[in-house]
Amino acid sequence: MENVIIIGTGCAGYTAAIYTARASLNPLMLSGTQPGGQLTTTTEVENFPGHPEGIMGPDLMLKMQAQAERFGARIAWASVDAVERCDDGNFRIKAGAETYATTTLIVATGAAPRHLGLPNEQALIGHGLTSCATCDGAFYRNVPVCVIGGGDSACEEAGFLTRFASQVYLIHRRDTLRASKIMAGRTLANPKIVPVWNSTVSAYLTDDQGEMRAVKLKNLVDGGEREVAVSCVFVAIGHVPNSSFLGGLVDKDVNGYILQQPGRTATKTPGLFAAGDVADHFYRQAITAAGQGCAAALEAERYLSEHA
Ligand code: NAP
Repeated sequence: MENVIIIGTGCAGYTAAIYTARASLNPLMLSGTQPGGQLTTTTEVENFPGHPEGIMGPDLMLKMQAQAERFGARIAWASVDAVERCDDGNFRIKAGAETYATTTLIVATGAAPRHLGLPNEQALIGHGLTSCATCDGAFYRNVPVCVIGGGDSACEEAGFLTRFASQVYLIHRRDTLRASKIMAGRTLANPKIVPVWNSTVSAYLTDDQGEMRAVKLKNLVDGGEREVAVSCVFVAIGHVPNSSFLGGLVDKDVNGYILQQPGRTATKTPGLFAAGDVADHFYRQAITAAGQGCAAALEAERYLSEHA
């Protein structure tokens, strides 16, 4: 029986591990299918405090892992299939052939950016294909870029990118934006943003170095195709929180994000805490996820001392 199991090894998970390990709770982390989380898919991280020169995303995650392990956190390379709450209030976790048992559970499984499903997209991530303007926008100064999507995220990304890019194409599959009125109005009034309506990206085109050079667009009204030169594509067609394995143990919003108690990381199930992007569609930053990981660790620690 573990004191604390932390599912997920992104910023939230590692921060929870550092805090619970330093509290002598001997946490066990279950890595998930993407060890290190979303930051392992980015290049340079310039907005994580304490790294004035910037740090590569994968390096930051390795440092967090080393810091957690330094205090005794253990990591099992496992992907969780299901969680059950037992009659005694403890949790049973199934991951492949393994079963784990724990008194408290911190879910820090993050969210996966939704992608279009084009053949070469995995190879292009970090080479002109990204889902995070805040992370990567500053690398594309005075060059054309595009954003795919028509929601608030797409508008927010497009607006942010106008600080750097020469032009921002906003490629949307319909002829009206899904985004809130105020956001849509601001977006369409921005002279640097060029909306491309009724269009989808049918191919990502690369140069000889394998970097993004253009997108092939398909017009959904007349079926016409054309190429638009862009140095980077920012995909903003939503995220999918990794919460399905929890079944009814937590309440979720319509998009699957875990609902926490107001101002807390506690969920509706005692002893089960949620931290980071799996419960946060609003900020979605490495540092806010780390902050929630800390909060979840402190709440788990308190829960354990009250239920000893
Ligand atoms: P969203 O509202 O679900 O919008 C996703 C957009 O991507 C939609 O325009 C959708 O097109 C498009 N899309 C989805 N799948 C696609 C595909 N396969 N191919 C092409 N286009 C596709 O997601 P979001 O913008 O990430 O926002 C998520 C939530 O967070 C929303 O509730 C939003 O209001 C909130 N949010 C708020 C703020 C803010 O207030 N500052 C900022 C960001 C996000 P259709 O329109 O045709 O469906």
